[in-house]
Amino acid sequence: MSGSPSTPRCTATKCHYCRRGRNNLCERWAAIGVTVAGGAAQFARAPVANCVPLPEHVRTEDAALIEPLSCAVRGYDILRAELASHVLIYGAGTMGLMMLELAKRTGASSVDVVDVNPERLATARTLGCTSAAESAAELAESGGRPRGWDVVIDATGNARAIQDGLERVGRGGTFLQFGVADYVARATIEPYRVYNQEITITGSMAVLHSYERAAELFAAGVLDPEVFISDRLPLEKYPQALEQFAAGIGRKIQVLP
Ligand SMILES: [Zn+2]
Repeated sequence: MSGSPSTPRCTATKCHYCRRGRNNLCERWAAIGVTVAGGAAQFARAPVANCVPLPEHVRTEDAALIEPLSCAVRGYDILRAELASHVLIYGAGTMGLMMLELAKRTGASSVDVVDVNPERLATARTLGCTSAAESAAELAESGGRPRGWDVVIDATGNARAIQDGLERVGRGGTFLQFGVADYVARATIEPYRVYNQEITITGSMAVLHSYERAAELFAAGVLDPEVFISDRLPLEKYPQALEQFAAGIGRKIQVLP
């Protein structure tokens, strides 16, 4: 079994957004292990409605990847991806790489990845991105996409990357804010270009009716757990796991009890 982090604590009669089926925008948002205690334990209590049975061949520890994957599925729900799109992803951490895997599944013509970390770019290449570079300018200079990209996804939350990404969206294209930016981060838009080139700027927050689909995709092998979980450490190495995460080394770091 695997559990979605969002809990239906909010009853449909109380919250404006839940009544409209926009549960991820709930005014009483609660996530097990995030805003509700109980995630880092041998057993966690979750509402039955949030539980998804997994097929035998899925290892429980690998299934930890379903939760972030369900956020990526939500991102693609927002994008309503079209076949043959040219996609640019900022950030080749776990989330950016998941967006890469899903972009391939949605029939993108090309998927380019930008990251400042060469090791992460190497992983993006291993997973089959079209090109990977330290900046979108580098991709554009090499003659990559003179018209910009149909879909630009920020999976960094970094204000500079976001600003750069907004400027790389081609005519009729879409910018998806997928990374979590700092509250105080700001970026500038060009209203004339948004109007004249019919550019969509949108965002995707956590999960919405996407967990079960993510579990199915995962069971079908959309992600290679050995790539996405870069480190599996025993419980006594929890401090090392935290240090490694803070230093930005590796991808998902798993602590096994
Ligand atoms: Zn609600």
